[in-house]
Amino acid sequence: MDRLTELHRHIDCSIRASTLAELARQSGLKEIKSEKEVREHFWLTRPMNSLNEVLERLVIFQKVLSSVAILEQVACEVVEDAHQEGIGELELRYSPNFASGLSKIPWEDVLNAFVRGLTRGSAKTGVKTGLICILGRGGPPSLADEVIDFAVAHKKNFIAVDLAGPEENFPCRLYKEAFRRAVDEGFPVTIHAGEACGPENIWEAIDLLGATRIGHGVHAVEDKELMKRLAQDRILLETCPTSNTITQAVSKWEEHPLPQFLEAGIPVSISTDDPGIFGITLQEEFERCKKYLGLTDSDIHQINQTAHRHTFLK
Ligand SMILES: [Zn+2]
Repeated sequence: MDRLTELHRHIDCSIRASTLAELARQSGLKEIKSEKEVREHFWLTRPMNSLNEVLERLVIFQKVLSSVAILEQVACEVVEDAHQEGIGELELRYSPNFASGLSKIPWEDVLNAFVRGLTRGSAKTGVKTGLICILGRGGPPSLADEVIDFAVAHKKNFIAVDLAGPEENFPCRLYKEAFRRAVDEGFPVTIHAGEACGPENIWEAIDLLGATRIGHGVHAVEDKELMKRLAQDRILLETCPTSNTITQAVSKWEEHPLPQFLEAGIPVSISTDDPGIFGITLQEEFERCKKYLGLTDSDIHQINQTAHRHTFLK
């Protein structure tokens, strides 16, 4: 098989199990004592009650990402691990305010550390990488401007912008002005939408925020007109089926709408989202799609080609 393209992976939620255990030990965190504990207790492998429960899990990453040296190491390892999974093109994303949330490391230093790590990882493995800047939902209104200003000021280090975090109470329209500025600056846009909320958030992501790709988008299946629009305008859905079953965006694996998206002619990719939380590789994600959704090797091959065509990497 050709080298794989992964479009949707959060860099700070992809920490290697052994590294997470070691960093937790160094930081004196009681929650995690060994790699075995990461694998058996920290990783979420069964459905949770909601996306919010998963988001709460992320605090541990903020706790351990406490120095630029650690950020650089983690970024480099994320690329090495992706290479092991057969990935040749890797888009990684993170939210500057989340990554600095506890450590208070300046945003610029976090970015530079990630870039150094990615550069090192790419030099070792040949994997092509790029960073997407995430604006997190739910912050004060000034945060939206701050994050977009940051992305614009570091245009050479970001390949696109994204909106993520709890969809309820924070519809896309709240971020219209911020994303208009990003689009004017020439940034491609992908938006986490239709994961915890319905199709209306996907419409807004496309029509108000200028998204050409949608993170998850599972609830698009409830709206025939939207399905047509996605197919017609070649708007790609970055599906992450394991993540969707664990956050309960879909109630069970067999009900994931990925096959319906394919049937409707919508461009679709498959990603792991957060391998450091769900304990999954891209290959395993493909295997599950074959097992639970009846996808064939040829489908997987086509989906990988589609991901390659829709990458924001230059
Ligand atoms: Zn995501």
